[in-house]
Amino acid sequence: MSATTDIIQRHDAHMTINYGRFDVALVRGQGAKLWDAEGREYIDLFAGFGAPIIGHCHPDLVTAVTEQAQKLWHVGNLFHTEPQTLAAERIAHAAQWPGGAKSFFCHAGADANEAAIKLARLHGHQNPGPNGKRYKTISATQSFHGRSFATMRATANAKVSEGFEPWLPGFTNVPFNDIAAIENAIDDQTIAVIVEPIQGEGGVNMPDPDYLANVRALCDQHDMLLICDEVWTGCGRTGKWFAHQHFLTPEQCPDVMTLAKGAGGGLPVGVMVASAKVADLFDHRKMGGVKHATTLGGNCLGMAATACLFNVIERDGLLDHATQLGKHIVDRLNAFAQNNSNVTQARGHGLFIGIELADDCDGSAVVKNCMEQGVLINATRGKSSPVLRLAPPLVIDQPLLDRGLDVLENVLTND
Ligand SMILES: *Cc1c(COP(=O)(O)O)cnc(C)c1O
Repeated sequence: MSATTDIIQRHDAHMTINYGRFDVALVRGQGAKLWDAEGREYIDLFAGFGAPIIGHCHPDLVTAVTEQAQKLWHVGNLFHTEPQTLAAERIAHAAQWPGGAKSFFCHAGADANEAAIKLARLHGHQNPGPNGKRYKTISATQSFHGRSFATMRATANAKVSEGFEPWLPGFTNVPFNDIAAIENAIDDQTIAVIVEPIQGEGGVNMPDPDYLANVRALCDQHDMLLICDEVWTGCGRTGKWFAHQHFLTPEQCPDVMTLAKGAGGGLPVGVMVASAKVADLFDHRKMGGVKHATTLGGNCLGMAATACLFNVIERDGLLDHATQLGKHIVDRLNAFAQNNSNVTQARGHGLFIGIELADDCDGSAVVKNCMEQGVLINATRGKSSPVLRLAPPLVIDQPLLDRGLDVLENVLTND
């Protein structure tokens, strides 16, 4: 029996089979390369949903986490630990929000959004409408915000929430990139709009350039919170620290943004970042008690990774690098699309790329063929209007990237 088969059989015996996994067991990674249990090498253009944002086993991350592991892991949030503060300082520095940005650390995207939605409800209770406390959140179709009871309802995808009724009330879904739809959905109990600046799971969907600013204006007008879900797009993925910075001036910054995926570089780190004013709603001194908490949030190992990766991205100019390589991918694939009927359009910002396929092109077959030729990519949206996604580590260099794209174009040509 091969090492891979052995790992898979033991997995099936002892784990819930909730994920559709490929028959590949990865055992090692370095930068944008991965190796499986049989020693086969892969170019990683997607693995980890963007979490290994500065690549697998980045030497600085290994050092930062190892040094921290020899000092202190976790003491709980009854005490202060500096790694949390360092990570929060890095995030605030990157955000450049005029009034400041304050972090609450947790473990995942769903966690961070859950915290954001709770914060919004506190805001709605303090600022009621004519019909009492406001509590409703508006989100967009094709969004993804997580799989907890609140976030699966913010996620406008029946497949995510079906089977888990009764649902948590207070969520309205409207078409993405449609400002009038949001306006029409607002009632006197609405308290927040949660939106991905660029939709990730929905297929790297880019809004009109003024969409987010218009949402911001609506939120101001109705005293609602703008929550930018940057779980996919944050931490440099799109060539700016946070994707809302493509669309909003610092003065227009969101009230809340949420981070995860890349935020721990592969360790489980989620962050809810709130403007200083809104963050007061979680201040136990002002609120008469603890409003939100999580035991392992801000543990030293995760925080060491977070602070380190923000430093590395800045020191190594990885935002500009991501911007340049992203333009290269989009240009190269749009040129390719001129003579290839499988591809209709490539789009994206930084190293967050969607490749729209023709309706009759099977995205999952393309992914599988690429994998067999040693290149890892992703497909989303299922069978109708499939989109391939690329989200390589920001450290990938152009020769390796081009080797991956050669394989992808080859597969799309022969498919
Ligand atoms: C992945 C994702 C989430 C959920 O994150 P988890 O860590 O899986 O809970 C939330 N929002 C967006 C935009 C995501 O891409």
